[in-house]
Amino acid sequence: MKVYLNGEFVEKEDAKVSVFDHGFLYGDGVFEGIRLYDGNIYKLEEHLVRLEQSAKALLLQMPVSRDEMRELVCESCRVNGLSNGYIRLIVTRGVGSLGLSPRGCGPSGLVIIADTIELFPKQYYEDGLKIVTVPTRRLSAAALPPMVKSLNYLNNILAKIEAQATGHPEALMLNEQGYVAECSGDNVFIIQGTTLATPHTASGSLRGITRDTVIEIAGECGLTVEKKNLTRYDIWVADECFVSGTAAEVVPVVEVDSRVIGDGRPGPTTLRLLEKFKEHVTGDGTRI
Ligand code: PMP
Repeated sequence: MKVYLNGEFVEKEDAKVSVFDHGFLYGDGVFEGIRLYDGNIYKLEEHLVRLEQSAKALLLQMPVSRDEMRELVCESCRVNGLSNGYIRLIVTRGVGSLGLSPRGCGPSGLVIIADTIELFPKQYYEDGLKIVTVPTRRLSAAALPPMVKSLNYLNNILAKIEAQATGHPEALMLNEQGYVAECSGDNVFIIQGTTLATPHTASGSLRGITRDTVIEIAGECGLTVEKKNLTRYDIWVADECFVSGTAAEVVPVVEVDSRVIGDGRPGPTTLRLLEKFKEHVTGDGTRI
């Protein structure tokens, strides 16, 4: 496998970065996770925009233009002979001194890894997930906007550890006000009758690209979509619940905090949205 690293494609074993890169020292950088489906890089443009916006929020200089980045991502898939896979796009502050200051760092580092994907266990989709609310709260937007997909994922990692410690694969995270924000690496939705609801991004969630697609599909399916504050109670008493993300796609949730959701089986509307999502993924994006 070849990895794109700061201007060249190198063998995976040779893809090494400096320990003085502030991406390594401080998590000072941004990233994207993108799917390749049958030669189509799903929503590449949307991912590139989000990457640029994350970088802008951190006053981080993009190392290449949008057009160059698009071409490098496509080339990364081609050189590795991939038609299905997962692409990790990373921009770091670059090499600097040991101090916190980004002044004197640079140029920005760029890494593109195009690899095969390790899919979630089939059982998650067939039986649904059992998740739990964790004590760690989602970062306040006043501290670091959760819309920024930064290399510092400690907030989410702590949530994941807490969920796993109680035998759950995924964590439900609340924001400082106690409203539902998102899961450690996925957005969360509920269905109540013909209404699909999800926390608005101001609740402290990433503006997921899968989330946007789900909202679009839900509209096509005749569901009313609401972005609003959700409480744990709203989730416990929902007809259906699911999470969405690039790697996960759409995964039904059947239990939250020991409360069975609906009849304890993946909900019919969730399954319909997942089916429709799968129809979308080869048609909306960039051909490699
Ligand atoms: N929230 C967080 C914290 C994430 O890291 C991700 C991406 N894994 C998502 C939501 C889902 O976003 P997307 O659909 O763009 O992958």
